[in-house]
Amino acid sequence: MPSQRLFIFWRFAGIRLFLFLMHKLTFAFCLFVSLAHSAETRTAKNREVFFSPAGGCTEAVVNALEKAKASVLVQAYSFTSAPIAKALVDAKRRGVNVQVVLDKTQKTDKYSSADFLRNSGVPTFIDSQHAVAHNKVMVIDGQTVITGSFNFTKAAEAKNAENLLVIQDVEMAKKYAANWSEHLKHSTAYQGHADKGQ
Ligand SMILES: [Zn+2]
Repeated sequence: MPSQRLFIFWRFAGIRLFLFLMHKLTFAFCLFVSLAHSAETRTAKNREVFFSPAGGCTEAVVNALEKAKASVLVQAYSFTSAPIAKALVDAKRRGVNVQVVLDKTQKTDKYSSADFLRNSGVPTFIDSQHAVAHNKVMVIDGQTVITGSFNFTKAAEAKNAENLLVIQDVEMAKKYAANWSEHLKHSTAYQGHADKGQ
């Protein structure tokens, strides 16, 4: 009977349409889950944290400096880490614009990392305008920010309890770079350990 056949036809068409839609919905759901997961993975890679002692802080700083292509702005309180000083000088030698602002305590009568940096041609400045210039910051290529309690020192790596964040964030890098520039304005060029008394 034509009407019964028509009924069966529409019933099958309905089932097929239902299955088709379910298939598409499943696909869309899987795609959404997959994209959400990859976004989460990207975010995770954009922020890394390290802890000392012996938690890879120095290595993380050196690795980031080895990737630097255009600029490295440094603010440091104490600076005695030979591997980090060497990585800064290496960056400078391959044409990266490296500049360092240090706390006044880094003007010592001994040959220090500040002397090594200055003598290696890295513009090095002393910020004497604060009780303590306590920032420990690097801004690399206007997009990577390295900061935390971790001083760029041997003791911070080997003996202290410290943390270090490596953050990929252009907006945050701009803020840190602006703050770095504010401190540079009232800092003076480091003249070597002979200017201890100044
Ligand atoms: Zn300052």
